[in-house]
Amino acid sequence: MKKEEIKELKDKLIYENKNGWLQAERDTIFNFAETYKQFIGKCKTERETVDFVREEFKDRAKDGDFFVVNRGKCIALVRLGEGDGMKLIASHIDAPRIDLKQNPLFEDEELALLHTHYYGGIKKYQWFNIPLALHGVIVKGNGDVIQVNIGEDEQDPVFVIPDLLPHLSHKIQDEKKVKEALEAEKMNLIMGSTPLNSDEKEAVKLNVLKMLNERYGIIEEDFISAEITVVPAMEPKDVGFDRGLIAAYGHDDRICAFCSKEAFFEADSKRTIVALMVDKEEIGSDGNTGAKSRFLLDVVVEILKRKGESLDFISVSEFLKKSEVLSADVNGALNPMYKEVHEKDNASYLNHGVVLTKFTGHGGKYMANDASAEFVGKIRRIFNDAGVKWQIGELGKVDEGGGGTIAKYLAAWNMDVVDCGPALISMHSPFEIASKLDLFETFKAYRAFYESE
Ligand code: MN
Ligand code: MN
Repeated sequence: MKKEEIKELKDKLIYENKNGWLQAERDTIFNFAETYKQFIGKCKTERETVDFVREEFKDRAKDGDFFVVNRGKCIALVRLGEGDGMKLIASHIDAPRIDLKQNPLFEDEELALLHTHYYGGIKKYQWFNIPLALHGVIVKGNGDVIQVNIGEDEQDPVFVIPDLLPHLSHKIQDEKKVKEALEAEKMNLIMGSTPLNSDEKEAVKLNVLKMLNERYGIIEEDFISAEITVVPAMEPKDVGFDRGLIAAYGHDDRICAFCSKEAFFEADSKRTIVALMVDKEEIGSDGNTGAKSRFLLDVVVEILKRKGESLDFISVSEFLKKSEVLSADVNGALNPMYKEVHEKDNASYLNHGVVLTKFTGHGGKYMANDASAEFVGKIRRIFNDAGVKWQIGELGKVDEGGGGTIAKYLAAWNMDVVDCGPALISMHSPFEIASKLDLFETFKAYRAFYESE
């Protein structure tokens, strides 16, 4: 065969997954990334994300759009349209972090400290000796709800979980396995160091309580009915000399939530479209704000009500059966320093566009949603027609580990579901890394899905 013929054959037959920057509108992508940085820097908890989205809804919703909120921690944006079922994009807005225990404050060796209990899959060592902020709510004895946000303002103090100096960590840390070297019960936060002007016992703790009482009007017992989370007190930053990447806390999975709401507001859709954001994915989707709760059913009932349709069991089932879902979650991009955990032909890569993940789970496809070939085929067609840059991705080598998303809980309602979102480096760390190109392609993918038939 001639050289040209072979090239022609290659172009026709071989699936090639290219770097998206080879053909991209740099300015559009960079401008979009700035809007995202504003969002991700502000929304550090599920509650803050719901508040942000709800506020934005006021300015950007079209006539007839509505939203449903569940306990301040989940939100569904809805636009009614033609046809049966809905086009749903579902993300989660909780992220790995550190929670305070319910009786957190204690004094030890003249330091006031806070006990913590980590939330989700963290590598503990990443959370020592970095600036941390406290976000959350405290419900006082009389029912008043106090909003807490300390550590983000320039003038605010930050909080730190102090590690042991290398000079003395030889036996207690360095010779142990990483997983065992750092104990959860040692992940205590420094809250204060100056005693009340008295020789009272626990005068440092008392001084902290006095200040908390002056600022928030709270007493120690109020911590029991509080949800205070410890999150990185770091601003999103561009990474690299060319600024192509963004490091921030909470890309997983608020990057997908952001893209879904942008797609929702921007889409020119005919069908009924929904952007659903849920809580508790990082700890198994349980509880009344997780994806396993019946909140989605409430949203469906509200849709049917507003469309004037019957609310019996069969109608609800039919509606769900005819619905299509993108489970909007991130994948783990190949990190060049740790290639060995991936199988390169099925790994996802930074800057190669949004990732379609047919199945999640771990070795043997256990705990997986495995999207049907028909549905993956349809989504592939939608993305190709809309010029979306996309890639396929499997989360690591078959026997290496794995992980799940909310896809399988949504699929249990008898909807077609496939995972779709950008790939990250350093997922679940306090400073996760995403690509600006992938961010933009994720938005384009979600918009194309909403606008499809
Ligand atoms: Mn996730
Ligand atoms: Mn996660």
